[in-house]
Amino acid sequence: MTVVSAESGTPLAAALPRRPIRELPDELVSQIAAGEVVERPASVVRELVDNALDAGASQINVKLMAGGVRSIVVEDDGIGIESAELPLALRRHATSKIGSLDDLEAVSTMGFRGEALAAIASVADVSLLSRTASAPHALRLDARSGELGPAARAVGTSVEVRELFFNTPARRKFLKSDSTELAHALEAVRRHALARPDVGFAVWHEGKLVAQWRPARLDQRIRDVLGEEFLEGSRPVEHAAGPLTIQGRTALPELSRARADQQYVFVNGRYVHDRLIAHGVRSAYEDVLHGQRQPAYVLFATIVPELVDVNVHPTKIEVRFRDGRAVHQAVHRAVEGALAVSRAGEVAQAPAGGAAASAEAGPLGHPVPGATALPVQPTPVPPWLPAATAANGFMRMPRSDGPAQGALALQTAAALYAQEPPAPWRVPPAPAVAAPPQDLPSADEWPLGRAIAQIGGVYVLAENRHGLVIVDMHAAHERIVYERLKASIGAAAIESQPLLIPASFPASPTEIAVAEGQRETLLALGLDVSPLSPGVLAVRARPAALAGGDAVALARSVLGELAELGDLGAQQVLQRARDEILATMACHGAVRANRQLTLDEMNALLRDMERTERADQCNHGRPTWRQLGMRELDGLFLRGR
Ligand code: ADP
Ligand code: MG
Repeated sequence: MTVVSAESGTPLAAALPRRPIRELPDELVSQIAAGEVVERPASVVRELVDNALDAGASQINVKLMAGGVRSIVVEDDGIGIESAELPLALRRHATSKIGSLDDLEAVSTMGFRGEALAAIASVADVSLLSRTASAPHALRLDARSGELGPAARAVGTSVEVRELFFNTPARRKFLKSDSTELAHALEAVRRHALARPDVGFAVWHEGKLVAQWRPARLDQRIRDVLGEEFLEGSRPVEHAAGPLTIQGRTALPELSRARADQQYVFVNGRYVHDRLIAHGVRSAYEDVLHGQRQPAYVLFATIVPELVDVNVHPTKIEVRFRDGRAVHQAVHRAVEGALAVSRAGEVAQAPAGGAAASAEAGPLGHPVPGATALPVQPTPVPPWLPAATAANGFMRMPRSDGPAQGALALQTAAALYAQEPPAPWRVPPAPAVAAPPQDLPSADEWPLGRAIAQIGGVYVLAENRHGLVIVDMHAAHERIVYERLKASIGAAAIESQPLLIPASFPASPTEIAVAEGQRETLLALGLDVSPLSPGVLAVRARPAALAGGDAVALARSVLGELAELGDLGAQQVLQRARDEILATMACHGAVRANRQLTLDEMNALLRDMERTERADQCNHGRPTWRQLGMRELDGLFLRGR
């Protein structure tokens, strides 16, 4: 919006009288810098905790009043600050962490710009209280008055920040309610807590302890911070690619969320927002996560410091990689690998004795996911059961925060099955390991067990050594067909079909630039999109497999994706679009409901599932099978109680 002055009718900016060039006073420079570094109490908390970690603290306490707006105190038991250096700590560009450009390139501390304390002190009342191991007592420095005096304290540092933005009322107005600010501050500590499980953290608000994380191993810390549910429903990630390693945990699709609020990425221990990494993860979920759902993950990337620039953002929340493409690829592979391990395969490794038992003490401390979630709603708890029984876990609630998954699966399956006529369903050759039907196959050979029946034309029942396996046959088959199609089509181009009448649409300059610049990629996707007239693009051909859809919508989403990803993405976009087309085809090719299968056919389906990657979810992210353990069956009949 342009503001126009009433008298002259010219824009105000142009009407400003010329002023001489002057250097800004120090205080004002710090306040301007503070605009970048300090947005709200949480930013202060983050900077102070960074400093405490850099000082080697093993316990960090954060004490807040009024969401941190009235006061923030961060105490640590780190190395402290020498008395002579106390005033320096508050000076702009004063730091103990780097001394040269070489240091900057290999920086391993959280801070290094030497501006956080100065910036905070320019917009709040700050005092420092610190003691080193060699000092006879602690010293306190009041930033505003410059007053320095002895004080009592053990080795370490306390920084107190009072009345944030007291001198910049315009910025204070941007602060939200105390509880919102508290939530942000807690989130800041949570990120540190995930990055440093070896350090203890405690947060107080208005004198009450609101969060506490004791020093622990990483898995325990993840459980403490994100909850049992995340730990149980996630897979370990472990991937090395040259100078880069990716570790952590990534949640199974059923733990996906409506918002991107459980996505933690750390690069060399620093919490970052990185579009490249986020996209790498997301693309690994492409096949198993529905539409707008957000995956949950905690990932730690470790990379030699020389290959990443951490000095690209004042709060260091963004980084720049020397080889972004390699990082993207490594993240994608790491997460994809973690998700591809089929649960069917995992059941084979679980100790016998009921799935519920193994959920409590799975191998490697990881619970057996096959035992975690059983759809509840189709089988209501009998009214005569004591209420507590359900809570005891004989039937667990589905874990998603969306609508109950079992119900969803049923509904959607029913909708799919309503489509007639049934598609041809070819039975794959029977496996060579076919056992005599009366023997239970060994679990190593047949993790999903031996088929025993089909019910409702929808589910296949099988018996394995943990109990009962229930398979949604359409969902499972869809995944198998999809993975097969993907493997068979390989790198071949997608078949394209010309439109009788080109579909034109008004396009943005970016869309036009992409259509012209990435023509090859688009053609490989089966899309012919080219300029028709200035500002207008026309779709002239589209993938034959998607002949029924909206050609313009398809073109726009592909153009949008290409634009966002630039050159880096061409390959990914190609892959993704191709996968989408294949998924559509797979759905049509998969077995329909009410098709009676023979036992051989059912067994063949189970064996195919065991062999197929990502067989635990159909292409839409719905589960394909569930395990009902002996203990859960016993629970149903109150056996052993
Ligand atoms: P930076 O962290 O980028 O060096 P800061 O303004 O955050 O800049 O801190 C300035 C300096 O003050 C640090 O380099 C460090 O030497 C000292 N310092 C700040 N906080 C602490 C602390 N909690 N313990 C020990 N030293 C600290
Ligand atoms: Mg700092």
